[in-house]
Amino acid sequence: MVRPMKKQGVRVLFGELYTDEVEPLRRAMEDCWFSIELDTASTPEECLVKLSERDYDLLLLDYAPPKMNAIDVLDTVKRKKYNIPVVIVSGEGDEEVAVRAMKMGAYDYVVKNDRYPSNLPPLLRKAIKKYRTDKEKEKLYEEIRGLKNYMEKIYNTVADPIYVIDREGRFVDLNRLGEEITGYKKEELLGMRFTELLAPEYLEKTKENFRRRLQGEDIPPYEVEIFRKDGKRVALEIRATRLEGFGEIGVARDITEQKRLEEELREHTAELEKSNTLKGLFIDIMGHDLLNSLTVIRGVVNLLSKERELQGYKRHLDVIENNVNRLIKTLEDVQVYVKLRGVGGLNREEMDLTEVALNVIRDYQNIAAAKGVEITWNLPPKSPAKVNPFIRHVFDNLLSNAIKYSPENGRVEVEIIDKGERYEVLVKDRGPGIPDEHKEVIFQRFERGGKKGVKGTGLGLAIVKRVVELHNGSVKVIDNVAKDAAGDGEIKEEKKGSVFLVTIPKL
Ligand code: ADP
Repeated sequence: MVRPMKKQGVRVLFGELYTDEVEPLRRAMEDCWFSIELDTASTPEECLVKLSERDYDLLLLDYAPPKMNAIDVLDTVKRKKYNIPVVIVSGEGDEEVAVRAMKMGAYDYVVKNDRYPSNLPPLLRKAIKKYRTDKEKEKLYEEIRGLKNYMEKIYNTVADPIYVIDREGRFVDLNRLGEEITGYKKEELLGMRFTELLAPEYLEKTKENFRRRLQGEDIPPYEVEIFRKDGKRVALEIRATRLEGFGEIGVARDITEQKRLEEELREHTAELEKSNTLKGLFIDIMGHDLLNSLTVIRGVVNLLSKERELQGYKRHLDVIENNVNRLIKTLEDVQVYVKLRGVGGLNREEMDLTEVALNVIRDYQNIAAAKGVEITWNLPPKSPAKVNPFIRHVFDNLLSNAIKYSPENGRVEVEIIDKGERYEVLVKDRGPGIPDEHKEVIFQRFERGGKKGVKGTGLGLAIVKRVVELHNGSVKVIDNVAKDAAGDGEIKEEKKGSVFLVTIPKL
């Protein structure tokens, strides 16, 4: 089925002084295959009023001065920037008027002759069409210009150098940062090949990448080094894309500083590895040789101090023994601490915490007694838990500290409370206590909370914390509120000493 073509309409304003001239034209227009709505104005003023009131596709102006001076109307139309094509109708012999009108921006002109009513409609339509196409083109150019401007702004404000090279590898464009990084002005670089900038060791690989990219391959970012104009080397990371049929556009990010830092980090890591190896070696030597020798010395000193003839030297021998003991404890602590730092978890086995506590208490009985410190305990008959034998260090260090920091004739209490899914272990003393600001830091390695006078390694509590953490437990210290702390029989509560509270899950 063929659909009747819809008559496409245009609206024309005809500035014509003589109304009888309009009729033949209107008739010709009615016969036309597209519809033309013809409106008329018989004075320049009417023309301009109508133009301001309605939208027309074309203004047809008869040149009939002085009443209808088409040139004046055209002038106003242009000045007021009406977006409309103007076609001038001039009488035969008035061609120079037409030329003037064209110069002033008229779109076309027709000469009034016999055929003009029938010639005019197609001419008008063509004029309107052409005018519209021209306007659209202009709009498009305007958009392209805007876009170009926008692209250039991006191009010059991005924080990385951007370059464009042609198929021969010659620079055809580069942004401001591109100039900065190479040290060359754009004019100097245009026409130069990128290979002229490259450090020789990057030449082959980069040429190869360029060639493969031109063939359409996707090349992941890679590193190159170039020589700046001042001879300095710059390391760049290149990310480029093919510009079809032309060459490539790329971003060259300066990675000189990043590479320097990486190199520094590599050196630092190598140094660290070296020092770690040395540390490992030292710990090994300590573990085997130093500890063995010290244990032998302790044994001998112990024997000597029992010799009757040497009793006169007993005081000196005691000093030696104490110091050797301290050395051994330090070395053992370091060994334990290093071992614990290096592990992510511990194997667990069924153990009885009551038994562990009692063993440790037994070990410290003599040391405590020597200081007149009394150890008391309150333990369940059995405290089964899945723990690692390292748990002994918790009891060991806490009890050792409690005795160490107790005054002579003080009292240390050890307690285990069954809390269902976990145990609470409490080690209480009546020593100087720990100020609030030190209550957390003392668990950090080598943090000695201001007790420089007391012998110790500063590692004990760090070991306690680590062992407890590896058992998913916790440790903290609180003030011991002792009843009758003064020991004068008067029952009053007083802050005295510390309580170390450890929580150990049973499983
Ligand atoms: P060390 O006792 O060898 O110095 P620790 O890690 O066992 O190392 O303890 C760290 C610090 O915590 C000690 O130097 C001391 O200041 C404080 N501290 C530990 N236990 C007690 C305690 N029972 N009473 C008072 N202060 C303590």
